[in-house]
Amino acid sequence: YTYSDSNGVAAAPRRKVAIVGAGLVGSLAALNFAQMGNEVDLYEYREDIRKAELVQGRSINLALSQRGRKALAAVGLEEKVLATAIPMRGRMLHNVRGRTSIVLYDPCTKQCLYSVGRKQLNELLLNACDAFPNISCHFEHKLATANIAEGQMQFRRPNEPQLISASADLIVGCDGAFSTLRQQLVRTPGFNYSQEYISTGYLELCIPAKDGEFQMPPNYLHIWPRDSFMMIALPNQDKSFTVTLSMPFELFAELKTHQQLLDFFRQHYVDALPLIGEQQLIKDFFKTRPQHLLSVKCKPYHFADKALILGDAAHAMVPYYGQGMNAGMEDLTLLSSILSQQLPLDVALAQFTESRWRDAYAICDLAMYNYVEMRDLTKRWSFRCRKWLDTT
Ligand code: FAD
Repeated sequence: YTYSDSNGVAAAPRRKVAIVGAGLVGSLAALNFAQMGNEVDLYEYREDIRKAELVQGRSINLALSQRGRKALAAVGLEEKVLATAIPMRGRMLHNVRGRTSIVLYDPCTKQCLYSVGRKQLNELLLNACDAFPNISCHFEHKLATANIAEGQMQFRRPNEPQLISASADLIVGCDGAFSTLRQQLVRTPGFNYSQEYISTGYLELCIPAKDGEFQMPPNYLHIWPRDSFMMIALPNQDKSFTVTLSMPFELFAELKTHQQLLDFFRQHYVDALPLIGEQQLIKDFFKTRPQHLLSVKCKPYHFADKALILGDAAHAMVPYYGQGMNAGMEDLTLLSSILSQQLPLDVALAQFTESRWRDAYAICDLAMYNYVEMRDLTKRWSFRCRKWLDTT
């Protein structure tokens, strides 16, 4: 049977769509497929993020850009997200002596990035899913195996020895950089895949609020570029900053003692140290190991009319361009526009791959380039901009 949208336009026939992964892209994908009238089952490995206190090992906030905003607008959520997001109008660069300079993103149109909380955004998307009677959420369901040609899946649940079986007409993998669904696609003829780890790791620190206020100007993405390593900070709604320290793993390994760590910060991040606090820095730095960063390129993103991968599952990238989530959300803008053309599903999915892979490869490359740019070039850029400002 067919489904009509609010304008009475007939949409694609209803399908049973399984979405694996209820992260930022998966929960948005669920909304998109449900809006088109499909029966959606959303499977997530973790517990419901709305009940979890802290999501371990994930970046706490993200820069939302135009790509992501457009995709959120398509499901009616852009305004709601921006209502609590913090605009970042440019980069604030911190030099080794603690002096700052500003590079605006777009002085003419005043476009900016927004700092959004990962948890809040994911919660908002899941709450929106709850409002759809044709979305069923299944938390603590980890995809173990899939037979994509048959549309069969098997899920593992905590403390349950038996796997749970489920089926779908279309399986959509939004299960992140280490996607299980992609592992199934890798086995299909003609599927190309490459991945690259960079030698830099990252670790998250925090500049807490002081007396209920931000300790640095909030409307900037703060950067401490230091040649082969760097630190960035994005503002949070609770007036703290999430600080991401990125360095080669060998450098992390050299900082073995409290004293070495404090000396390193005194030398390179003299202005940030008192804001983080010495004791807090020691606690946070030695609490976790630096995380690895991965870039993934692959194609095609689909298998016949049976399976599709989106977001990090299709194109994980290093975070230095701030576009991983945004590009994942943009997948859905493109996919929805193709699906609205009422083509046979296998043709539509092939068109999605063909229209998407070059841009996805390009943004992975740009992210890798920006890793060098933010580390090294921002210093030169700020110098050039300051000279330009002095002469105008
Ligand atoms: P994920 O967020 O990884 O979600 C995948 C979901 O699938 C998870 O909920 C996971 O539990 C679930 N899952 C995994 N395996 C299974 C399974 N077998 N069965 C069921 N469920 C499963 N992007 C930006 O746009 N802007 C930024 O500023 C930005 N900053 C970043 C900073 C850092 C430090 C990092 C690491 C990344 C950053 N990114 C940023 C990238 C962004 O985090 C990702 O691109 C985004 O989270 C991808 O969303 P996703 O839903 O595709 O994957």
